[in-house]
Amino acid sequence: MDQVSRRPRWTPRCKWARPRCVRPIRVFRKPSAPKPEVYCSLTQGARPVLKKQVKTSDAGSSTIAPTYGCRSFCEPIPRYEIPESPMDPRTVKQLVQDELNLDGNPALNLASFVTTWMDPEANELMAMCVNKNFIDQDEYPQTQKIHERVVSMLAHLLNAPEQGRAVGTVTIGSSEAIMLGLLAHKRSWQHRRKAAGKPADRPNIIYGLDVHSCWEKFANYFEVEARTIELGPGKYVIGPDDVAPLVDENTIAVGAVVGTTYTGQMDDVAGIDALLQKLNAERGLSIPMHVDGASGGFVMPFVHPDEAWDFRLPTVRSINVSNHKYGLVYPGLGSLIFRDASDVPEDLVYKINYLGGEMENYSLNFSRGSALVMGQYYNFLRFGREGYRQVLSNCVETAQQLARTITDSGKFEVIGDSPMLPVIALRLLDDSRYTVFHISEAIRAKGWIVPAYTLPPKADGTAVLRIVVKENFSRDMAELFAADLQNVMQKLDASPPSHATDHGKEGHGIC
Ligand SMILES: *Cc1c(COP(=O)(O)O)cnc(C)c1O
Repeated sequence: MDQVSRRPRWTPRCKWARPRCVRPIRVFRKPSAPKPEVYCSLTQGARPVLKKQVKTSDAGSSTIAPTYGCRSFCEPIPRYEIPESPMDPRTVKQLVQDELNLDGNPALNLASFVTTWMDPEANELMAMCVNKNFIDQDEYPQTQKIHERVVSMLAHLLNAPEQGRAVGTVTIGSSEAIMLGLLAHKRSWQHRRKAAGKPADRPNIIYGLDVHSCWEKFANYFEVEARTIELGPGKYVIGPDDVAPLVDENTIAVGAVVGTTYTGQMDDVAGIDALLQKLNAERGLSIPMHVDGASGGFVMPFVHPDEAWDFRLPTVRSINVSNHKYGLVYPGLGSLIFRDASDVPEDLVYKINYLGGEMENYSLNFSRGSALVMGQYYNFLRFGREGYRQVLSNCVETAQQLARTITDSGKFEVIGDSPMLPVIALRLLDDSRYTVFHISEAIRAKGWIVPAYTLPPKADGTAVLRIVVKENFSRDMAELFAADLQNVMQKLDASPPSHATDHGKEGHGIC
């Protein structure tokens, strides 16, 4: 044994370590594990002192062995267990930052609807609020007042009746908002059934397969029969004719999407509303509609204000939006708005008193930071209606222009023609030699993240590329992207991959 490995376990591993290392770092070792390899590559002057090197290329290794000429790191750090001893803050920041460099670049992420850029001032404001628990209304009453303002501004934006009593809450995202909205409709239906002396044990919900997976989750977790409407070739949204045959007295709600995750198109919300008004009147039912405005809920009021899909339609009793999509806030914020307080059964609302004072709470989660709510409030004040209109119209125009440029190549078809939302879903006209999956992979090499996936059943014969245009995707970037796409296509045309059709049908995660 050499001198270094004979040292007691909790002291620096080499005598030269002390002047350069910020503090001694202890070696991690499981009691039963083989003795970890020890290394020290600290230099003293020009003289390297390499004792024994850890194999850093071993991806399966249980330790991380970072390197900076070992200015900070003189021992491996356990990858899967909490290290025994503390480390210098700057060192840790560097270590984590380095790993995160392997993530995609958010600025080139055309895959997600979720906001990747905010004003630096908003960043500063939000950094001031990360340590405030949003749920603690007694401790942070002003935070709660601002929450109420955000909900109120949204209710107005979604055209809640002026004389009504709209209520709502922010959530972690649209998924939580959708579950809370549908849960309220399920409970209201149960109360109505019980009051009428009828069985309330077989609830069902109707929606198209163009919905986000969180609808399926709701049906599964909350034990409601999902009556789903299949899509088909060229049919990627639903309308009243699809819904009508499925409705009965056990229907707790009908779901409609404004801006589907798959193609960015809209279900026929007004048509479904007219159908439900008629059926409710004829059969003495009270079937509500919940509109999923996760992606379109912020765009439509500003860019297409005359399109009625919101509380202007009488059977729309609840709407969710993702503030972290076109509300232009970072991930972690959605909202749920009910048309009227009577849409939320009282037995679902919790009154808690142990944080001091009495507060009401309707949520699936409890503690959370308040930073994103402040980010939304900041944006509402910062942009105003006019600012949102400008930013979002610009996104839609960029998307429309990019869609034209791409279709001019004659190789793609844009689903839904000219997009209403800043989303472009592209189908390859001829996929006999290569597919959208190959294009997605090839363009990733240029840094762009553009997912490819097949549409839901039974439109799953169609595979698309989806581009979501966000605020930070300028016209200039759109041109660069179009040029890169053209370049990728030329290369694929010149040398198509060997097994064109069975490639990567699994697709990518989209959100
Ligand atoms: C993104 C999305 C969701 C899920 O929203 P989160 O805010 O990510 O929870 C639900 N529905 C639609 C239509 C979406 O686009």
